[in-house]
Amino acid sequence: MPELSEPDRLKARALLDDLRVKIDEASAGDEALRFQFKRYIAKRLEFDERGTPTHRKRLKEQKRIAQNNLCASCEEDLPESGAELHRVRAIAGYTVENTRLLCPRCHANAEALAKL
Ligand SMILES: [Zn+2]
Repeated sequence: MPELSEPDRLKARALLDDLRVKIDEASAGDEALRFQFKRYIAKRLEFDERGTPTHRKRLKEQKRIAQNNLCASCEEDLPESGAELHRVRAIAGYTVENTRLLCPRCHANAEALAKL
């Protein structure tokens, strides 16, 4: 995935600065509340991109059945645990259509290839 352009990076920084001010205002000097707001918001933004852990677990189970317990790349048996969901297009998210369940070795190779 390409990095943000400099103008877009500046927009993202401005959004982050605005959010920090709002978190400070909402927590009104309560450090514990400020910490909780930041953690809660960070998790929800992560869920926006990756879905919840429960969603990904169900998707893994679904893909394992659909792929007859075989890695979608090397076609060897998937490990009991440690199989990994690979997004064909990262921006398209964790959907049935956009993911393949891979053994850890094939997933590491796919991730390395995506960075070339
Ligand atoms: Zn494999």
